[in-house]
Amino acid sequence: MAAVLVCAGCTAPEAAAAPAGSCAIVSNGTPVTKPRGGRDESAPETATGYRTGMAAVPTDHYAVATANPLATRAACEVLRDGGTAADALVTAQAVLGLVEPQSSGIGGGGFLLYYDAAANSVQAFDGRETAPAAATENYLRWVSDADRTAPTPDARASGRSIGVPGIVRMLADVHAQHGRTPWRDLFGPAVRLADDGFQISPRLAAAIADAAPKLRIDAASADYFLEPDGSPKSGRLSNAAYAKTLGALATDPAALYTGPIAGDIVAAAADTAGGRTPSLMTTADLAGYRTRIREPLCTPYRGKQICGMPPPSSGGIAVAETLGVLSHFDMAAHRPTDVDADGGRLTVQGVHLIAEAERLAYADRDRYVADTDFVPLPGGSPNALLAADYLAGRAALVSPDRTMGTAKPGEFGPPAALAPPVPEHGTSHISVVDAQGNAASLTTTIESAFGSFHMVDGFLLNNQLTDFSAEPTAPDGAPVANRVAPGKRPRSTMAPTLVFDTDAGGARGPLYAVAGSPGGSTIIQFVVKTLVGMLDWGLDPQQAVSMVDFGAANSPTTNVGGEHPVVDISDDGRHDPLVTGLRDLGHEVDIADQSSGLSAIVRSGPGWVGGADPRREGAVMGDGG
Ligand code: GLU
Repeated sequence: MAAVLVCAGCTAPEAAAAPAGSCAIVSNGTPVTKPRGGRDESAPETATGYRTGMAAVPTDHYAVATANPLATRAACEVLRDGGTAADALVTAQAVLGLVEPQSSGIGGGGFLLYYDAAANSVQAFDGRETAPAAATENYLRWVSDADRTAPTPDARASGRSIGVPGIVRMLADVHAQHGRTPWRDLFGPAVRLADDGFQISPRLAAAIADAAPKLRIDAASADYFLEPDGSPKSGRLSNAAYAKTLGALATDPAALYTGPIAGDIVAAAADTAGGRTPSLMTTADLAGYRTRIREPLCTPYRGKQICGMPPPSSGGIAVAETLGVLSHFDMAAHRPTDVDADGGRLTVQGVHLIAEAERLAYADRDRYVADTDFVPLPGGSPNALLAADYLAGRAALVSPDRTMGTAKPGEFGPPAALAPPVPEHGTSHISVVDAQGNAASLTTTIESAFGSFHMVDGFLLNNQLTDFSAEPTAPDGAPVANRVAPGKRPRSTMAPTLVFDTDAGGARGPLYAVAGSPGGSTIIQFVVKTLVGMLDWGLDPQQAVSMVDFGAANSPTTNVGGEHPVVDISDDGRHDPLVTGLRDLGHEVDIADQSSGLSAIVRSGPGWVGGADPRREGAVMGDGG
């Protein structure tokens, strides 16, 4: 099979230096210079602009998209050499943990949807972090029942935010079922890059500069990311400690969970240097970590089957509920105008209807969704929230003329208390299709940029437990569904997605698309706009990903991503027809820059075509061209 690889938006010199004919890079897209649309304080990672004019990447047999060209290339070579999507994930994650350490890594967790083409089956792998056994409901609120002071310097940067990491265990389990390349061979590219060093990317440089004050608190983080004078490093980074850790994991993935590395994790999480409140994680918590294999959530939309992640992520349910509401509207009639490589100009009614559907979905998500091993959904399964008559009733609440502002959740008997919003950040998405037609959609995270800032053995520990509600009860005394409990997994918004054709009876047919994004609680909005862009508006995956980011959580605010070249952010959007049109319908429009990290790969004839987000540094590669 020919292996001329093509790539959208590749900037890393190491990736570009690949010899022609084997992972050669074609640069794609031009960075836009425009004033910043303002910072979205609730948003995930700092926004770093936009590349205009990116073109979709066609491939013949296999394709992979990650948020970094070095990771994409390494994963692509695994596919080229006959590896499966499972194999490619392992290599991609190992490289991302090095070159995009602010977003994901072996100290974090993730959710994966895996399609086994031969079996025509979809599995949902839950590699979410767990709360340690000692983490009772006030773990994030105060130091102990005897000392009711808040964790210091804050819950996130203290040891209290650190969940038992899940991604390595999950990847090992996926590989055991679906891998073909020997596990130990999958770490070579990351080990080499860690030893030889790599160029700090512009996005990583911006993230280090942004986080420097917090990175300084942790000696290992400061040593790795900062100069001795405390200023952010630039230039090249190498990471011998990470290479050593990967060497141990290549021999045995259990090395993260037992033995010296597990001991190091527990010690680092308990480190009180800088006045940090310690984690109460133990080596028993690590040794006891297990992947959960869950039932994927598959629902119909426009003749396709959309498969998403069930709880403890809220992503799949909220995307499915949004699409279920939208299926009552003729969304094709609201296609963007002037469609170009960047997705064109959105219509006011298109954005309005989608934002309203999202408000309704977020209202239910906020009230009802948490780790279902601890708190059941209404009716005991996702079916009640996604039933046809329930969705029809929700759709009837949408007015074409006026925003509902804040939606009420549906009534399902005595509810858990509404969860207060929790900020979510620091994540990456990987989409893969291999030459056998297997596919993987993995959203992987350490929660906020640089996680808890605790670094150990060359990697960062997550702060995933801040995805729990710190307050266990609402002001009226009702228990909050997403409160902390020992062994519980915090509610997520991650929404890795697989889309399938269906036959006349609605049964699953061939794989159609793979998609997903980081973006904290906004992930739902990013994934929905991409799916509607492809399925209702006929956009190719690059156009759908590049299109303006927009949508709403359950508040009067509607986001319209100001980083996009078609959005006129002057005078707070007063001259932009989309912004003013939405304001006329009552939306409070926020034009802060958005920081999605979408990727999408779609079947095209006998091959594939992929798109990577112009707002990050991602790249698509595959064979052909
Ligand atoms: N921790 C978040 C979640 O699990 C993801 C954060 C992000 O996407 O930036 O939903």
